[in-house]
Amino acid sequence: MIKINENYLKLKASYLFADIARRVTAYQHANPEKEIIKLGIGDVTRALPKACIEAFHRAVDEMSSDTTFKGYGPEQGYPFLRKIIARQDYQSRGADIDPDEIFISDGAKCDTGNIQEIFSADTRVAIPDPVYPVYLDTNVMAGRTGDFNDGRYHGIYYLESTRENGFIPELPNQPVELIYLCYPNNPTGATISKEQLTDWVRYAKENKALILYDAAYEAFIRDESIPKTIYEIEGAREVAIEFRSFSKTAGFTGTRCAFTVVPKTCMAYDRKGEKHPLLPLWNRRHATKFNGVSYPVQKAAEAVYSPEGKVQVKELIGDYMKNARLIRKEMTGLGYECVGGDNSPYIWINGKQDSWDFFDMLLNKAGVVCTPGAGFGKCGKGYIRISAFNSYENVQKALKRIRLVL
Ligand code: PLP
Repeated sequence: MIKINENYLKLKASYLFADIARRVTAYQHANPEKEIIKLGIGDVTRALPKACIEAFHRAVDEMSSDTTFKGYGPEQGYPFLRKIIARQDYQSRGADIDPDEIFISDGAKCDTGNIQEIFSADTRVAIPDPVYPVYLDTNVMAGRTGDFNDGRYHGIYYLESTRENGFIPELPNQPVELIYLCYPNNPTGATISKEQLTDWVRYAKENKALILYDAAYEAFIRDESIPKTIYEIEGAREVAIEFRSFSKTAGFTGTRCAFTVVPKTCMAYDRKGEKHPLLPLWNRRHATKFNGVSYPVQKAAEAVYSPEGKVQVKELIGDYMKNARLIRKEMTGLGYECVGGDNSPYIWINGKQDSWDFFDMLLNKAGVVCTPGAGFGKCGKGYIRISAFNSYENVQKALKRIRLVL
């Protein structure tokens, strides 16, 4: 008898965005003439930067001739991309990262979801609340939790991000081994200071723990004092893996390119307490289950680092940040407490009511789609997330409608 992985039965019945999509579809059916403005799911809306498109086209042309055609590439990614990432994203900021510590992939979603495979099944995991749901669900699938009760999975240590702690969780008060952190944060938009991140690195070192640092939104950091990478923190090379993505940086959500950094000095332990470097494990996993990002996509990603690419990416992010500032200003003006929107594309708004009620009200009365905070975890109750990923005109229009109904 073929048996299922019963851990899948523990997963909450509906995935947040599927639930939102269902409500939006129902609204659209009931109101076919109404135009909906989507400020919900964190998908970008603007075209790829010109430098990326040009590099993409050139690489596609290379595929059309036998002499320049590329078949399977290195699973870890082409050296041209790994080298430029190491130099520009890390070494230029004083972070000592080598190209061979970088693994190119087709998304930070897969990487943050897959990384848990290289850790023991009985690993004690600390996960933020509210959270980007992938970290939690993949640990549920892997059997690291008990059942879901009262908004929480048994066996997970929840790192609560609340108004009271400024949306930066306190260090765990019981031992944990695998710690997920995400800054700038999705969904709260909060950022972490060097001092706060230093505390986490110190905690990881003292407790032989490992930090999984999701920096998918680093490109939105404006304030130079905020760390763009965990490797700006001394000692992080021993205790942290970092995830990055071109999705939000350069509009690659539909193009797919990201990378994970596993420093050679990053260690974990076997059951006898002996140290093992994680890089060979991840390399093995990656090469076994993944066959590389397509050559044209990696060429398009490389163009992000070209002089023109950098200017274009800056403009793109600048436009989204103009939206973010406007959303935050308007919602604050309407009397709502807001976090984020200054160094991140998300604005986390204390809705002062049930977050699904607030979501339904904005959808049904203003035709605006946001994301209910409760979908990101218990600590998200009462909050909504508005994203800056849309045109300035649409954001203005959405805010005008919101003003009329609130
Ligand atoms: N990490 C965070 C925190 C995200 O919000 C997202 C996407 O919304 C991802 C990772 C996924 O990125 P990618 O498009 O590279 O899979």
